[in-house]
Amino acid sequence: MRYISTRGAAPALDFENVTLTGLAADGGLYVPESWPHFSAEAIRKLAGLSYVDTAVEVMAPFVGDSLTREELRSLCTAAYGRFDHEAVTPLVQLDPTNWLLELFHGPTLAFKDVALQLLGLLFERFLSTRDTHLTVVGATSGDTGSAAIDALAGRAKVDIFMLHPLGRVSDVQRRQMTTVLAPNVHNIAIEGSFDDAQALVKAMFADQGFAGRFRLSAVNSINWARLMAQIVYYFYAAVRLGAPDRSIAFSVPTGNFGDVFAGYAAARMGLPVAKLIVATNVNDILHRALSAGDYSVGTVTPTAAPSMDIQVSSNFERLLFDLHARDGKALAATMAGFEASKTLAIPQAMRAQAADLFTSARIDADGMALAMRRAAEKSGQIIDPHTAIGLAAAHRADLGRDVPVVTLATAHAAKFRDAVERATGNRPHLPARVGNLFEREERYATLPATLDAIQGYIAERATPAR
Ligand SMILES: *Cc1c(COP(=O)(O)O)cnc(C)c1O
Repeated sequence: MRYISTRGAAPALDFENVTLTGLAADGGLYVPESWPHFSAEAIRKLAGLSYVDTAVEVMAPFVGDSLTREELRSLCTAAYGRFDHEAVTPLVQLDPTNWLLELFHGPTLAFKDVALQLLGLLFERFLSTRDTHLTVVGATSGDTGSAAIDALAGRAKVDIFMLHPLGRVSDVQRRQMTTVLAPNVHNIAIEGSFDDAQALVKAMFADQGFAGRFRLSAVNSINWARLMAQIVYYFYAAVRLGAPDRSIAFSVPTGNFGDVFAGYAAARMGLPVAKLIVATNVNDILHRALSAGDYSVGTVTPTAAPSMDIQVSSNFERLLFDLHARDGKALAATMAGFEASKTLAIPQAMRAQAADLFTSARIDADGMALAMRRAAEKSGQIIDPHTAIGLAAAHRADLGRDVPVVTLATAHAAKFRDAVERATGNRPHLPARVGNLFEREERYATLPATLDAIQGYIAERATPAR
């Protein structure tokens, strides 16, 4: 399988190289050159397979010659062996038509573990045969940082530097990052906001001398391998609910459009997906885009579902690429216009095409709290704020009694226990697998939000690429 850039002007890469690369050189994102197709017969054969076996079947066409099937299987076995549920991503039925797909049984309690546990192992595997060293740099408002650190801690030939805004992530989220004391993990609290941290990371990637010297790499969801790993659970859940003989809808708490894009990929691969419900909070750029064609950047309002507090959804570009009939030149022009004006009007014909599969809903704080209470009262389920937005959107979409709807439960309620307690009166317990998080030693540096300070800190500690 080869991967091409959404902006049509970067070299095509194989799976190994696309995994080690972030943004394409032309500023675009890598996508598969074509979508592999699973016939109804092939989907039927997935029935009864374990999560790991399903993962191997679904991902093998994307991996191509970069790994043997046995290598892929052993990496999946290692990655998903760290989940504390034997089904890895179990389904829980809420009522006759609604299910939760629990994606939070990994080490850091959020769905990002599903992809990042595998990505950490892929990095190590691909670097093992190269004479090079990778420096992962990222900014986090919480979930990505902890999942990436857990996945990369102690791995050979990789250092990770993770920036978080000082005092603006929850205690659980901070401790999940700062109590990891492996020598290749470097936490930096920035005296500034998440936007400042993100801007500093962008500036480091743009400094080509620095980026090249340390071979900077990204672990955010622009990385194709992350999205690929997320396609698996759409197949796994749909097959359990009757695919290929029944169509399933999914409601997806959405921020950067990565998770829901994986659902789109599953549909393109032949999985019968009735609808993808894009659930947003009041930071609703995607809801405006899909319902009214208005993809224009507003200001971010902080909410109880911080992983969905975004302005620009980077992976939306991957959908726009298909809506532009995969014409990279045309999309490059569209994106240049968007980057200049911060606004993009999606033409009616493209909107109609997207509407075949996508619908969307915007859920405010009251709608979120109501969904948390309703899940507790009617189904005995304590859900987190992100999941609550997904469930409220599923309710709003009202697809009728014949369509099973799976809401992706993207975080464990204990990760956001203050918000959950406010809405439901229940304070969820941290599961045993996080251990004595509040007794462990923390280690992190506190630095001013300047490029000089951060680059100086990294240059002293990172290993040059060769
Ligand atoms: C990252 C995250 C999301 C959003 O996922 P995207 O792929 O960015 O759309 C939703 N919920 C939780 C808990 C997350 O950590």
